[in-house]
Amino acid sequence: MRTITNTEILYSALGNPKVENLESIDTNCLICGKHIAEGAKAKKVLSSNFTNWGDCKDRISQYICKECAGVIKAREVRVNSFVADANNLYLLKKNDIEDYLFNLGKYVTGEFVVGITQSFKKHNSFRCKVNSDPKRYFIREEDREYVFDVNKLKRVYEYLNDAYLQFSKDELQTGNYKMISIEQFGLEKFAAYEDLFRQYRGSAQFNLLIYMMNSEKRNEYVKAKQKAQKEEKARLKALEKEKKKAAKTKQISLF
Ligand SMILES: [Zn+2]
Repeated sequence: MRTITNTEILYSALGNPKVENLESIDTNCLICGKHIAEGAKAKKVLSSNFTNWGDCKDRISQYICKECAGVIKAREVRVNSFVADANNLYLLKKNDIEDYLFNLGKYVTGEFVVGITQSFKKHNSFRCKVNSDPKRYFIREEDREYVFDVNKLKRVYEYLNDAYLQFSKDELQTGNYKMISIEQFGLEKFAAYEDLFRQYRGSAQFNLLIYMMNSEKRNEYVKAKQKAQKEEKARLKALEKEKKKAAKTKQISLF
């Protein structure tokens, strides 16, 4: 039995959108390469700035199957990160990504695809690999593709989120930390975290984890922490003043 293709999954998830200009034909699909009895002329489907020829499975063909055509024309899967199985299409906002990637089993059944975009303008859909294991799967992210191993990356993500309360995304990504941040974080703790980060730094997975960390939540935490520090400082200062005053009174009373 032939397994389902990436665009068949997405076409179904999109609710089988109507495709214009279908003709009877006996050829292979330019994009996915499957044999087709009907298809749309490639010229009518692909825009003039289509450049992904290297990802096309039958470059000699002039026709595109209904599923590939429908998916390529669907704007929502080009300008959004998404997770899809044959029955569900989830368009993901940046702050949704972590929940879906780490808990995919809650959202998909059977074969599924995952496409992430940070530029919001490149085709992921027909370049996604078809996955079946929600604990270890391929992510298509524009021009690259990589394995997302949930169990391994969960620990890295937890450490990153904790470190993010002290360090900026830029520091974590590059490894160029401010000395003052390291001191505040604690040198020993820092060394342990950095041992882990160093194994992943520079990888697409590491960059994705940093990208998807929730900066709004983090900023709220940092703001609250700064406020508490400021209040504590003011309290100590008032206490000091009180002490001085008391000492002075004592001195005076001695005379
Ligand atoms: Zn096709």
